[in-house]
Amino acid sequence: MDNPLGNAKKQLEETAEILGLDQKIVRKLSRIDRFIEGDIEIKLDSGKKKKFKAFRSQHNNARGPYKGGIRFHPQVTSDEVKALSMWMTWKGAVVDIPFGGGKGGVAVDPEELSRNELERLSRAYIEFISPYIGERKDIPAPDVNTNSQIMAWMLDEYEKIAGHKEPGALTGKPIELGGSKGRTEATGLGGFYILESFVKTLKKPKNKITIAVQGFGNVGSYFAKFCDQAGYKIVAVSDSQNALYDPKGLDIAKVLSHKEKNRSFVGYKSGKILPSDDLLYLDVDILSPAALENAITKDNALKIKAKNIIELANGPITAEAEEVLTRRGIMIIPDVLANAGGVAVSYFEWVQNLTNYYWEEKEVYQKLERLMRKAYGAVMAEYQKLKTGQPKINTRKAAYAIALRRVVAAMKLRGEI
Ligand code: NAD
Repeated sequence: MDNPLGNAKKQLEETAEILGLDQKIVRKLSRIDRFIEGDIEIKLDSGKKKKFKAFRSQHNNARGPYKGGIRFHPQVTSDEVKALSMWMTWKGAVVDIPFGGGKGGVAVDPEELSRNELERLSRAYIEFISPYIGERKDIPAPDVNTNSQIMAWMLDEYEKIAGHKEPGALTGKPIELGGSKGRTEATGLGGFYILESFVKTLKKPKNKITIAVQGFGNVGSYFAKFCDQAGYKIVAVSDSQNALYDPKGLDIAKVLSHKEKNRSFVGYKSGKILPSDDLLYLDVDILSPAALENAITKDNALKIKAKNIIELANGPITAEAEEVLTRRGIMIIPDVLANAGGVAVSYFEWVQNLTNYYWEEKEVYQKLERLMRKAYGAVMAEYQKLKTGQPKINTRKAAYAIALRRVVAAMKLRGEI
């Protein structure tokens, strides 16, 4: 598999070339400001002790405190965490929120831990990184296999160490501990706002626009639900086991309750069950990968029939696959824009924590919609400007161009470059 840090640097270099950025600046942007790495040790329920590799990467904070999730996964590596922190710098800049890029991870399979062990690991991780985080320094959040309960344990541990209350030190918290309304559905909802802006270019009525969503977890299921409610035709959804396909359109609320009850799409009253990957090759207006990275690679890029792809997962299309898709004229709305709703509402959560004043759900939704539509408009305008005479330009490069320009401007003003 491609090295994610190599990929991230390649993307940076390609965009820097388009912008004519100085090599010195590119080298500075490729570097990670600070990387914290070590072993954390916890006592297992058996009484034995066990060590886990732990990481926190702080890429760039020219635009504001570092910001990014914490991932608990057996395959977490230092390069992956570094790449993800770099992507967070660009994502925050694309949607123009005052954060830099950070990311953290622990190499662990959380399925193998009891709830008490998971709590001890969460607390040990925060103790390990506590000198480097805080509401004005670096603000972690949930990512793969971490959730609001884990954020609650982490906040509690951080506040004990700090000796004061500081809810803005972490986001993605439960509402009772200063979380924001609308945070759970934020990524799917943000993706939906992007879709609404994008489909205007298709000149088709909503009920004729067909959508397939790969992955039916937090992001994919909320995205599908908002699309269905708005009148789009969701013809297929999938999880790691199967795809459910109905060309007449699925009732997502009913599919969700079936899936919750049966933990599977099998037995749903309409449509047919297909192998999971078949969803990727359906002839639909919009394909939304919302599962894991590397869903579309050079090996299957030629099989894609969708005309447009909205990336809701992080990195679902490899660099090689993207070249193939771009050459074939398939429009890709990139992850740094399409799934930025999560970090945007994390930003809203942080603002609410700093001001100690909490917003209603409707206000969160309105602010998110405005922010996503503005970012979409900026990326598309940049794309139109750059693409003249340059067939290799796509919307990802346009989004990166905006991000790089904003980060470089902040660094120049600070005298860092
Ligand atoms: P999740 O664990 O809730 O859901 C993942 C879903 O993908 C599950 O339904 C799983 O069955 C399915 N899946 C796994 N492998 C699959 C496969 N091969 N084919 C089809 N389905 C498969 O995770 P999530 O929070 O929804 O995150 C999904 C993606 O979105 C990840 O890439 C994540 O990094 C990204 N993301 C999430 C957020 C957020 O706020 N949750 C924000 C930004 C980006």
